[in-house]
Amino acid sequence: MPHLAEQSRFTLGGTTITYLPDGYGAHHPDTMMPGVDWAAHPGSLADSLLVLTFGAFLVRTGDQNILVDLALGEMDVDIPGVARLKGGELLRSLAAEGLSADDIDTVVYTHLHLDHVGWTSDVAPVPNGPRTRTPTGLTFARARHLMAQDEWRYWSARTGELGGPDADVVLKPLEGVVEFIGGGDTIAPGVTVEDTSGHTPGHLAVVVRDPSGAGRESVFLAGDIFHAPVEIADPNLSFSSDVDPDRAKAVRDRVLERPDTVIAAGHFPHGVFGRAVPTGDTYTWTTVDGSPSSR
Ligand SMILES: [Zn+2]
Repeated sequence: MPHLAEQSRFTLGGTTITYLPDGYGAHHPDTMMPGVDWAAHPGSLADSLLVLTFGAFLVRTGDQNILVDLALGEMDVDIPGVARLKGGELLRSLAAEGLSADDIDTVVYTHLHLDHVGWTSDVAPVPNGPRTRTPTGLTFARARHLMAQDEWRYWSARTGELGGPDADVVLKPLEGVVEFIGGGDTIAPGVTVEDTSGHTPGHLAVVVRDPSGAGRESVFLAGDIFHAPVEIADPNLSFSSDVDPDRAKAVRDRVLERPDTVIAAGHFPHGVFGRAVPTGDTYTWTTVDGSPSSR
């Protein structure tokens, strides 16, 4: 069992952002990030594998419970040459916050890769897996489900692509439910979205500020702008699933230059809340102590 990010939280005034673990992926590093000199980045691999944590962020504003992304879902699969993927903890992580699925008001998808949509319906989208059940509904049945229209369009035209959202258990249950949002839109007081397309054509980041206006700091929920701390040390690297690598890199540069920003990087196994600290002509990822929760 690799080291995984713990349930942890960061608070801005009356708003709390909590990382809810679901599971992990142990990836073959040269498949996911070709051309990296891993010897120059000691500590990036565990037993020669690139480990990513999978989870969701819960944003509690006082009167709204917002989930950003829906993690991997209930599965334990090996994709030969690519990764072992294991998930299934999300609802237990949510319960540790005293909440059930029906307490979620809004779901926001940063994008629709398979490790961000797993709990969409009540059937997990196991890649290449046999489909023994059809979904009976959405996991977060009371919630609005929000994403960028470009993201929906892109994946609706590419069903069956490995790494994308399953057509039967993710896209279909969202038909007629999904609502589209775009850069600059507000989800709740202090919670807005930003267009960060590049990793995928409709990738969004969610930006959280203290709604009272006190303090300059914001928390930037980065989706898959970053997959691993090595991309902060060397933002020129590209990840194999970047749909438009040049745009993805431009977005990474833009995020690294943001002042007063805590980045919420949901795949980082040694802590998901941190800052990119300028170091010479590059950056160093420094985790901030989101206060660990009891589990
Ligand atoms: Zn991801």
